[in-house]
Amino acid sequence: MSAPLPTNPDIVIVGAGSSGLSAAKKLEELGASYLVIEASDRIGGRAYTESNTFGEPVDHGCSWISGSNYNIFSDLGKKNNFTLVDHTNPKIEMFERDGARSTQANINEYNKSELKIKEILQDTGRQGIDIPASKVIPKVPYNECFQNWEGALNYAVDIDQISTAEYWHLKNTQPSLIVKEGLGNLVATLNNNFPISLSTSVLEMDLSGKGVKVLTSKGLIVAKACICTVSVGVLKSEKIKFTPNLSNKIQKAVHDIQMGLLVKIPLLFDGVRLGFAENSLVQYDISKEDIGNGCYFLAWPTGHNYMVGFIGGQFAWDLSKLGEKEIVEYALSKLESLSGGNIRKHFLKGFASNWANNPLTKGSYSAVKPGCFGAREVLSEPISEKLIFAGEATAGNLSGLVNGAYESGKMAAARLANIVKQKGNSL
Ligand SMILES: Cc1cc2nc3c(=O)[nH]c(=O)nc-3n(C[C@H](O)[C@H](O)[C@H](O)COP(=O)(O)OP(=O)(O)OC[C@H]3O[C@@H](n4cnc5c(N)ncnc54)[C@H](O)[C@@H]3O)c2cc1C
Repeated sequence: MSAPLPTNPDIVIVGAGSSGLSAAKKLEELGASYLVIEASDRIGGRAYTESNTFGEPVDHGCSWISGSNYNIFSDLGKKNNFTLVDHTNPKIEMFERDGARSTQANINEYNKSELKIKEILQDTGRQGIDIPASKVIPKVPYNECFQNWEGALNYAVDIDQISTAEYWHLKNTQPSLIVKEGLGNLVATLNNNFPISLSTSVLEMDLSGKGVKVLTSKGLIVAKACICTVSVGVLKSEKIKFTPNLSNKIQKAVHDIQMGLLVKIPLLFDGVRLGFAENSLVQYDISKEDIGNGCYFLAWPTGHNYMVGFIGGQFAWDLSKLGEKEIVEYALSKLESLSGGNIRKHFLKGFASNWANNPLTKGSYSAVKPGCFGAREVLSEPISEKLIFAGEATAGNLSGLVNGAYESGKMAAARLANIVKQKGNSL
């Protein structure tokens, strides 16, 4: 499937994730000449389903089709006969601080608090106030549990790193679906024999003369223009050299957008359900000191024989330094303390997704720093009419999401194809 080098297409797309694949699809439709360069030996990027480890599909990256009534992957899933399971109002399995199972009245209280906090956060952002979300959290029951979900596990940064302005701006993620065969597998269906050069790293983009000179690990490609879809984590790592240097404005935008971390910890069991309902969310109330350290779970998604633990934010970065064995043990012992039974005799194996140490992602997805709302817009502006950054970090109110990545790639392709058509050889 890997396309040969060199060809000198009009447009080079860097990265074959959701954004790069959608850019390729758009350029196909427009009849433009292009080549996709992908450093990894597979397509999909952070949309990645893998079935070897458990013998069942597991998503290492994205798994929820959020805002499913305006999400391209709902339609694509239906078209390709994927099994889409509604996950809009999942059952919540909750535990109190003393380890007792929460009553329905407790859970209702939690739901009420969640609504209240979200309303306050959105109201703050709506007024144009861009401060850390942690500053406006009211002292309602279970607010600590909510802060753990919304910060570390949803935004992949701690609650004090969420911008209230961004909170208001981002689209509602409900209704949502999960995909039995894996969202990564669904994203991969975008590839319609596109010209993609796998295992080829982009090392430098030189915009100084005519066109763009893209230096790769397999040689030089000269194109008229380039769409770069690598994560902000990769941009921050400066593994790709830009000549001339990116402007101070763009560098500031890269600085102002954080790369968050969400670690998934799938745990495979022998078929017993440990008292948790399929597709339920398992959470426990925590103290103020433990906000950000909580490991919550999705139980038996779409009927699979595994539960998925989640840790995120700074705690996840710290634990990722220790290694996979320690992370799996952390999640397993949390689960053990919740279920109270002898779960280890049913446990087969587990692993932890390693986006933290992956040089091609350097984290999971982005979040704008408090006070820095507007950075995403700056990053998505075309540079010298020859380079556009696309991908989830540039996806406006769909940022962080796989469908946002898709929309940003499509838009960048349409913009750049138009410029190339109008300016042609003068670029
Ligand atoms: C754990 C986790 C959970 C998530 N959960 C959800 C979810 O439930 N729902 C949702 O909508 N989204 C979710 N996301 C986010 C979603 O997966 C991403 O927003 C989306 O997949 C990003 O697509 P992209 O094309 O912008 O970037 P990527 O998928 O990162 O694509 C960029 C590509 O560039 C390649 N690349 C990097 N450097 C180079 C180089 N130098 N040369 C050539 N190629 C290079 C990379 O290998 C990669 O394939 C999750 C992500 C993670 C990690």
